Amino acid sequence: MEPLRVGSAIVATTEPHAETVLDTIRELGLEMQVIFNKGAVMVLPSGINKATGLTAALAELEMSAHSTIGVGDAENDHAFLPACECAVAVANALPAVKERCDLVTEGEHGAGVVELIDRILENDLADLAVDVPQVRTMRIVRLSARWGALTVPMVGRVRFRWTQDLPGVGKNSPAGKVTGARLIKEAEGWHVVFRTETLVVPADAHQGPQVGIDRGVHVALALSDGTMREHGSWLTDGEREHLRRLEKTAARRRTARPKKARPSGRERRTYGQIARLRAKAKRRAVDWQHQTTTELADTFAVIKVEKLSILNMVKSAKGTIEAPGRNVTQKAGLNRSISGQAWGRTVTLLEYKTIDRGGQVIEVPAPGTSQTCHRCGHRDPASRNATVFACVNPACGWVGHADTNAAININNADGSAVSGRRDLGTTRSVKRQPPRAA
Ligand SMILES: [Zn+2]
Repeated sequence: MEPLRVGSAIVATTEPHAETVLDTIRELGLEMQVIFNKGAVMVLPSGINKATGLTAALAELEMSAHSTIGVGDAENDHAFLPACECAVAVANALPAVKERCDLVTEGEHGAGVVELIDRILENDLADLAVDVPQVRTMRIVRLSARWGALTVPMVGRVRFRWTQDLPGVGKNSPAGKVTGARLIKEAEGWHVVFRTETLVVPADAHQGPQVGIDRGVHVALALSDGTMREHGSWLTDGEREHLRRLEKTAARRRTARPKKARPSGRERRTYGQIARLRAKAKRRAVDWQHQTTTELADTFAVIKVEKLSILNMVKSAKGTIEAPGRNVTQKAGLNRSISGQAWGRTVTLLEYKTIDRGGQVIEVPAPGTSQTCHRCGHRDPASRNATVFACVNPACGWVGHADTNAAININNADGSAVSGRRDLGTTRSVKRQPPRAA
């Protein structure tokens, strides 16, 4: 096919040849993965991506990932950006990439990088996060059911919304202690995340049933028991329309501005409004995830999930290999971009919630779960047609929801425990605040 570029590790072509590439990988039985990069279709050995490249480079440079700022714009940055301490997207980045970043620049392409470097030189991005390592100086107190206060160096006494019990602070607090804090600037304001150390008392073994969960293409979560966990759009029709208008306005102001001129106050206000709407959608998504994972961890003793891989992440943006996403509407696009990155967070939440309840999460490598009939084991892409799985094996003929079939396959697969009951009295250091929506 044309065009085709062959490097030492990557073979690349462009869309719309993704289908041909995937067919060829399947035909030749290769262990290769496809990564999208804004119209480019790159084929790499499985497990190799920008994040593994960064890890190798940092090892050679003898540098820590905690000293790294990553800048990205495309699908192939999904693995790379979370590996960096600070993730930055340039203004022309894909919405799904922007969602997971700590900072989105006002400039596009190289101009965005120049802007970032200016900010680093100016204040080392101190306005993005402040670390408070000295616990004693923080003097954390609980003021009321909803408010707490702490002292921030150079700032003074500040109040914060009390969302979760902190170990060792106030009456009836859990055993343990706060070991540090980090202040993070987000679109809706400042957040404080406490580092805590708690004594884990293992829960009694969970008596509930086992379940397999598929991150469905058509539903948010499909369970092997045939039920689904779904959610609506994260923004109302009105909010979405508002966002669309703001983005148009921002683009118009950006285009009208002379080169090298700083954005006007009005333009910056528009960016702020856009960021706040996006933050609102993200917060609703995280709320839904918290409710759903709590319910799942309460109900099930053993939860099997698909092991995360880059190929699976492609699924979020492009549908599955077998059922590529097509004509994804604006509405589905935003939901999909959030739920796409949300999978890792869902698993993380399930892990700590199942530990607390004496259950466990098991990750299973699950290739072909969506093409294989769970009842007879017959594997054929022809069995799957959008949401319906109809086994083409005449001796079987099972028909049902495609995502349910995949979930049952995950439930039946062997895997390794990523969380489970621990020994009595071990100490662990974890962030007990909800993970940042990034
Ligand atoms: Zn079958």
